[in-house]
Amino acid sequence: MAASYPVNLLGLDRPALEAYLAAMGERAFRAQQIFPWLHQRGVRDFAAMSNISKALAARLAESAVVAVPEMAAEHLSDDGTRKWILRLADGNAIETVFIPEAERATLCISSQVGCALDCAFCATAKQGFNRNLTASEIVGQVWFAEHRLRAERGASERVISNVVFMGMGEPLLNMKEVGPAIHVLLDDLGYGLSRRRVTVSTAGVVPALDRLHEVAPVSLAVSLHAPDDALRDRLVPLNQKYPIAELLAACRRYVAHDARRRVTFEYAMLAGVNDSVAQARALARLLRTVPAKINLIPFNPFPGTSFERSADAVIDRFRDTLLAAGLVTVTRRTRGDSIRAACGQLAGVVKERVRRVVPIHAS
Ligand code: SAH
Repeated sequence: MAASYPVNLLGLDRPALEAYLAAMGERAFRAQQIFPWLHQRGVRDFAAMSNISKALAARLAESAVVAVPEMAAEHLSDDGTRKWILRLADGNAIETVFIPEAERATLCISSQVGCALDCAFCATAKQGFNRNLTASEIVGQVWFAEHRLRAERGASERVISNVVFMGMGEPLLNMKEVGPAIHVLLDDLGYGLSRRRVTVSTAGVVPALDRLHEVAPVSLAVSLHAPDDALRDRLVPLNQKYPIAELLAACRRYVAHDARRRVTFEYAMLAGVNDSVAQARALARLLRTVPAKINLIPFNPFPGTSFERSADAVIDRFRDTLLAAGLVTVTRRTRGDSIRAACGQLAGVVKERVRRVVPIHAS
């Protein structure tokens, strides 16, 4: 592997850090010593890592860095939701959202600069796609948020309890970087999150779903939004490549190993488009064969969209139809709307749009 210097240690999972240290002639267990400094204590200066020698600290400083995306802006919503615009070294910017709730504190992170999938109702799609984030930029969002929140609160305990890949981008089109980032999030010496508290959300990149399970069987959310292929082809163009039947088969494989597991299906409620009682019934029929939970997301508008949010009564009727059919259904409370931090409103600053069509070789 051609190493690019300096190496950002935030993007190395434990085996990769061990390999990196081994290449320096160091023993593997040094990784156990260094990892908690990086992720748990938030220490970026090797000289401050008191259980490694001065000599090793000096050598690390020659070839490695602990670099974190820089905060370009912070927006605080009245409901406590917080959105950060983080600037990357190349001038692109991404968005990361913190959503505090009574029983958990969730960080919503981005996996790409922009998105190539062009879903009809999503603001990120309108930005186009620039590039994949690196593992260090993905972990860097968690590092930034966790240590900023801790410093503010004077807390020494972990603040973030859940991480969801529901920000900008399609995580399953960036498995190479998302994989190691997930390992760091799950590592006991890293962020120590259980696999149930890490959720990957996908528009349905079927081949990568099988690989995700091998990387780590984290919680899975699938952006469904339609009960039939004709409508889903329009709303989520990736459906033309991986139609609903194939997607649901992959979902069944994903949870097959674990009887207690369910796939969360996200369904944005679009007035007059996908919110009829007939469509709720069709959705219920469709999901009969998958251990499912449905999250109804009231559509979040953004400038330039022609979609509208379904009325509350229509959302309730849709939910009640699903509940009557025996499906676990919740309506996701809209959070962070006033600061454009809600689902589908993240836009960031995408420098050049390199591609906005569905990739032919999605991997
Ligand atoms: N690309 C991944 C990760 C994004 S998650 C995926 O598609 O799952 C963001 C979630 O918000 C997805 O379910 C997406 O479909 C949904 N969403 C996008 N735009 C929205 C909008 N304007 N209102 C409500 N939900 C939206």
